[in-house]
Parts: sequence; structure tokens; C-alpha cells
Amino acid sequence: MKTGKVLLVGRPNVGKSTFLNNIIGQKVAITSPKPQTTRFPIRALYQDERGKIIFIDTPGLMKKTEDYLSENINKRTIEAINEEIDLVVYMVDHTRKRDFEEARVLGIVRQINKPKILVINKIDITEKTYKPQYEFLKEEFPIYFEISALKKINIKPLMNKIFEFLPEEKKESEIENIHPYPVLNIDAKTFISELIREKVFLMMGEEIPYTTTAIVEEISERDNGLMYIKAKILTTHDRYKKMLIGKGGRKIKEIGSYARKEISLAINKKVYLDLTVETDPHWQKTYF
Ligand code: GDP
Ligand code: MG
Repeated sequence: MKTGKVLLVGRPNVGKSTFLNNIIGQKVAITSPKPQTTRFPIRALYQDERGKIIFIDTPGLMKKTEDYLSENINKRTIEAINEEIDLVVYMVDHTRKRDFEEARVLGIVRQINKPKILVINKIDITEKTYKPQYEFLKEEFPIYFEISALKKINIKPLMNKIFEFLPEEKKESEIENIHPYPVLNIDAKTFISELIREKVFLMMGEEIPYTTTAIVEEISERDNGLMYIKAKILTTHDRYKKMLIGKGGRKIKEIGSYARKEISLAINKKVYLDLTVETDPHWQKTYF
């Protein structure tokens, strides 16, 4: 039996969550961070006859260090990387230009002293590509795969390679200790709030994400099997609140719908997400 931890890294939107959700299927339990460590990377446990892999997804890794909050994320994330992981999967998206953010991710990947696999995702898309901009990476990372996380192309050979790199029976006790998801406790709340927060990061402009946090207030299962989730996004200023809500509530609906789909996929249940926005200038003191 092999066991190990794999860090999944790439700038937002390269397809990390899609990849996780697709390999996970029924076999995998998504686990959440420990309650006192909000804003930690999201973990997913994959398990088959070959062994167990904890994938660590890193929504917080890609932020610029502008305030103490994001600085914190980066420090913690780097710490976690260096202590914990056995392998890095570095995912890029050839349908988007390389940019500053991509360069920053590469910079982080270079700092890690562990085996690395380069994954070029979204190869199902051929009409729009910046592949030449990513070619040089193949020299630096001779083990690479071109996949489609969405269309499930080349996932199997990638998983085979990942298992090759993992040690036998390492950190077994630690892996056993992780709560399988869904667990309806504070861990689930943290996990869901991270998903919501990630959507805010993806869908809102430059500065707004840094002013927000997401709080999950209630998770309850209804008689018809529907998961009811009540959550709020907190932001520091009324003007940001307005932007988060959007014209006629369009923005918040969009964020909510995107988050709801991903939560639903993760817990394999129908989800009703009751999502609101509030102004709280001091949330950083209260919640972090
Ligand atoms: P993350 O931010 O890295 O977790 O990226 P997501 O998994 O949320 O994916 C971002 C977007 O890219 C979503 O709209 C996905 O549907 C899309 N996507 C992810 N993988 C693929 C792929 O292999 N092919 C295509 N066409 N789209 C993909
Ligand atoms: Mg994601």
C-alpha cells in the first residue's frame, strides 16, 4: 500500500478543483481543514487498491502579499508544503497567456524540493492556445502530462505516475486520522466557507477578495435529503458590499450558484445555499 501527500498547485482557474472532483468520484472523501486553521488549503482523500493519496488544493497560494492576511496564507502554505508533501503536481492552463501570476506560481514550485509533475490541462481545447509559452517548462519538468480534467483525458496515466512517486505505508496513522467528508461539524463549515471564499476570489475584481471572508452559519439536512446551507460573505465596506451583490443581486447569485454546484459535487447531495452579504469593518479581528 502506498500513501502520501500530493500538492496540487496552479494559478486560479487552471482546473485544480475540476481535476480533484473528477478523480474523486465515489471513492474519495473530501476533508476539511482543522477548525482553528481557517484559510488552510483544502484536502481531498483519494483511495483505491494501490493506496491512499491526500491531495492538497491551494486556493490561498496565489494571492499577492498585500496585507497581513494574505501574507499569513503564504507563510502557512509554504510551511505546509515543506513539511508535509511527497510530490508536487504543477498545473498550467495553455488556453491562457502566461502572466505575472503564473510566473509567481512557478517561483513557488521552484522553491520546493520534492519530485514534481507538470500537468498541462484543458487539452480538449484546441482552438485557443498559448502552448508555445509553456514549452520551456517541459525541459524543467521532464515528467509531464497533457490532460483534460474536464473530459477525463490522460487522467489514468497521470495517476499511475503519481502512485509511482509515493512512498510505501508512510504517515499511515496521520492519514487514518482525517475525518472523511461529509461530517456535519465545524470542519464541514470551514470547508464550505473556503469554497465560497474561493469563488469570491475568482469572480470579483482585484481588491475586493482581500476585504472579504465567508462564514457558514448553518448546515442542516432537510427531510427530502436536501442540504440547507446558510452562509454570509463579510466585507469591510458598504461599497464592496454593493459590488458583491451586483445589479439586481446578479453577482451574489452568480457566486452562490458557482459555489453551490461545487459544494453539491463535493458532498454528493443536492444543496440549497442561502448566501447573503454583510458589511463588517472589523471581521478580520473577529474571525481570523
Ligand atoms: P481551479 O481554480 O484551478 O480550481 O479551477 P477550476 O477547476 O475551478 O476550473 C476553472 C474553469 O476551467 C472551470 O470553468 C472548469 O470547468 C474549466 N476547466 C477545468 N478543467 C478543464 C478542462 O480540462 N477542459 C476545459 N475545457 N475546461 C476545464
Ligand atoms: Mg479550485
